[in-house]
Order: sequence, then structure tokens, then C-alpha cells
Amino acid sequence: MIHEIFPVGPLQCNCSVIGDEQTREAVVIDPGDEIERVLEAVRRHGLKVKMIVITHAHIDHVGGAAKLKQATGAPILLNQNDSALLKMLDMQAAWVGMKAPGKVPIDASAGEGDKLRVGNVEGRIIHTPGHTEGSVCLYFEPEKKLIAGDTLFAGSIGRTDLPGGSLEKIMSSLHERVLALPDETVVIPGHGELTTIGRERETNPFLVE
Ligand SMILES: [Zn+2]
Repeated sequence: MIHEIFPVGPLQCNCSVIGDEQTREAVVIDPGDEIERVLEAVRRHGLKVKMIVITHAHIDHVGGAAKLKQATGAPILLNQNDSALLKMLDMQAAWVGMKAPGKVPIDASAGEGDKLRVGNVEGRIIHTPGHTEGSVCLYFEPEKKLIAGDTLFAGSIGRTDLPGGSLEKIMSSLHERVLALPDETVVIPGHGELTTIGRERETNPFLVE
């Protein structure tokens, strides 16, 4: 599996480009900004983008999605529970001082248990509400990788004080869904350093009993 991770935009959202080495089909996760860099990675690996997945509708994760869709024709997937947040993109842009990206056309919902396939690479959607109502993680079981959005960070968890946030929900998502994954799972958080489920289970101050 081809997997490139690079931070984009002023808030340094971790964008992932994941591709199948044989078919060269790819999925881009959280193209928040700097779409030229996303397209450069796609070209460098000779990939064709088949799908764009957004972990949640915060502007630093979804801001570049429409532009990437325009460039590739790939559909955009976002959990339907974040549609209210998506309508507030202009307001979100003002909060963080980013340029409003305009309307982001969503093609399908990324729902609990949905299997997303690009070539021979298959990921599964895990609905993890709490940071936002429609927050999802993307789990690649054979590769033991979790794209966690802003649900889990190295040493921290997603904030729950923004519209749609719930501390109760994020704690139950983390304990019941995320920590249910094997310890060796590599976690790619929405921002910052990579980690593993085992390390967070042992040392994350928000998760240790
Ligand atoms: Zn967020």
C-alpha cells in the first residue's frame, strides 16, 4: 500500500494519500488545503484519485476537498451527521482566519461499517462521534493503520467545546471503538505525530484509568 502523509494548511492538518500499488487507484483523506501538494504526490506515484474521504467537517480538514474534486472528478464522502457543520464553513473560516472555500459538494455519507475500496486496498469506516457528531476514523485492517481525524492524538484527544462536540460521546467512542483495535495499530491523527493504540492505551492522560 502506498501511503503518504503530509501536513497541509495553517493548522497543519495531516492529509493522507493512500494508493494501491497494482491498480494505482487512490483515496485522499482530509485534503484541508494546499491541493497542489496533494496533486503533486498523486502524480509522483502515478495514482488516480477515486475517492476523497473527510474525517469531519472542520475547515482545516475539508477546506480543499472541492478543489481536489474539481481536479480529479473523485466523489467526496463525509458522514451525514456533520452536514450542519458543513453549512457553517464560512463562519469556521472566519474563526481561524482562512479563506472561505465556498460550497463543498458531498456525494455520499461515510457511515459506520462502510467498506471503502481502492484497487486491492480496503478501509472500513468507524463512526466515532464526540469531536463532532459526524467524526469518523478510517481503519485499514491488513496494514494495521488508523486514520483518526481529530478523535485521538498522540497524548491527547479531540476538543469537544466546539459546535456538535460532546465529551461524553468522544470518551465512549474512544473506549468502545478506538481502543478496541489491536495495540500495534499505527494511529495517524488529524494533527501532529503518529502514535500507536498501545502507546495511547498506556500513556494518554485522557485514557488511562
Ligand atoms: Zn477538528
